[in-house]
Amino acid sequence: MGTIRVRFAPSPTGLLHVGNARTALYNWLFARHHGGKFILRIEDTDVDRSEVRHEAQLMEDLRWMGMDWDEGPGVFGPHAPYRQSERLGIYREHTDRLLTEGKAYRCFCTTEELEGERAQAMAEHRPQVYSGRCRALGAEESARRAAAGEAFAVRLKIPDHPLRFHDLVRGDVEFPQETVSDPILVRSSGMPVYNYVVTVDDALMEITHVIRGDDHISNTPKQVAIYEAFGWNVPEFAHLSTILGSDRERLSKRHGATSIASFREMGILPEALVNYLALLGWGAEGGTREIFPLEELVDAFKLERVTASPAVFDFEKLNWMNRHYLRECDADRLAELAWPYFVQAGWLPEQDAAAADVRAWFERLLAIFVPSVDLLDQVPGKARFVFDFDPLRARDEEENAALLASENAQKVLAAFAAKVRAHAEPVDAAQFKAWMNEVKAETGVKGKELFHPVRIALTGSHSGPEFDKLVPLFEEGSALALPKHVLSVRERVEKFLAE
Ligand code: GLU
Repeated sequence: MGTIRVRFAPSPTGLLHVGNARTALYNWLFARHHGGKFILRIEDTDVDRSEVRHEAQLMEDLRWMGMDWDEGPGVFGPHAPYRQSERLGIYREHTDRLLTEGKAYRCFCTTEELEGERAQAMAEHRPQVYSGRCRALGAEESARRAAAGEAFAVRLKIPDHPLRFHDLVRGDVEFPQETVSDPILVRSSGMPVYNYVVTVDDALMEITHVIRGDDHISNTPKQVAIYEAFGWNVPEFAHLSTILGSDRERLSKRHGATSIASFREMGILPEALVNYLALLGWGAEGGTREIFPLEELVDAFKLERVTASPAVFDFEKLNWMNRHYLRECDADRLAELAWPYFVQAGWLPEQDAAAADVRAWFERLLAIFVPSVDLLDQVPGKARFVFDFDPLRARDEEENAALLASENAQKVLAAFAAKVRAHAEPVDAAQFKAWMNEVKAETGVKGKELFHPVRIALTGSHSGPEFDKLVPLFEEGSALALPKHVLSVRERVEKFLAE
């Protein structure tokens, strides 16, 4: 086998969603597994809907997921340009060639004529395909009418045999020739159509394997006919199954956020998303293994293991995978990634303006709270009481109110407050533990009745992370210069008792 060359060919008409991201990933993995080339081509011939900002975002999303391209915008390569809007001259030359060779013809039929044909076919229960009327025009007449300024589309002469291709996921696929009819290559506006430009580009860019969504299966016979008309080799095809939501309908916004940008905003790690996407329609040989860091995916990925049955997108499973990678993530990177959420909450200064001790403290905070979240954007909610301690709200909460109402709770809080007030130094975890033992001995209260009131007084809630971790976090936090002052243990108790 020569060098494998694959491409990802998105249209920059919106955000990159999981379906296309998986297509990109399978292409990328296939190329990297075989030491081939991964090409990025921007299909922006739909000028009304294509936008530069979408192109930029999509490239950023690919880079974020760790997919680099060997040829494409920003990288160049032997087949530049890689934006279809910059290749219109190339398509024109190829159209001239097909017309000259008699493989394509000018079609002067008007919209009304074509609609009339369609209506009649429908009435006669025939397939609604173009009759091929303009095929019969002589070369001279065709050239004369074009020269006279009459508008025309260019159509391909579909050969007189069924159109077949081999699909690596689905096996042999065959379309009877009469279901295809003579497809338009260039509209009367002069704009070439998707099936045409994609084929010209795939051929000129020497693409060996076309891996894409199965919504393009019905386009493939037309593309095969275009390869044949030019006398080009037909590449291998692999059409990936549709991604469904939990209700087994095609995955869409209705099922939740599915753009790569939104996953990123939620605090899904790129390695978690990539690992999850890889499993949507592919599985490693002989196993139930699910955790695959990127390099291991490259090793394990085989196109033969891609399944033809639709994959169901499971948000819970993605969250589970993210939890796994959050646990694996080193403290420094985690701080980097989680930081912006805390700036947004108004609790931390901008990252580059923060002192080293703030950074170290924040890493410790994350070690406490990250294990209990699926997504990084949930961390501020969990850590809210560190920065924003509201005794009134805590007292009002029903379960808290019931716990605090008991006589034992009052005794515990009074004894605890006395210890805190008698102690000038910052308190450490060992000291705190000693106090709790003393309060227990003095009041005779133990277990939940002992710990819950103190926890409410310090955190606003009767459950949460261990005191051993929280006490140093409060004490050290209170010594830092932060946009929102973190209350020390003592400040918390005072504030709680005052309200
Ligand atoms: N621009 C097309 C799309 O985004 C590419 C299809 C293909 O890979 O051929 O659907």
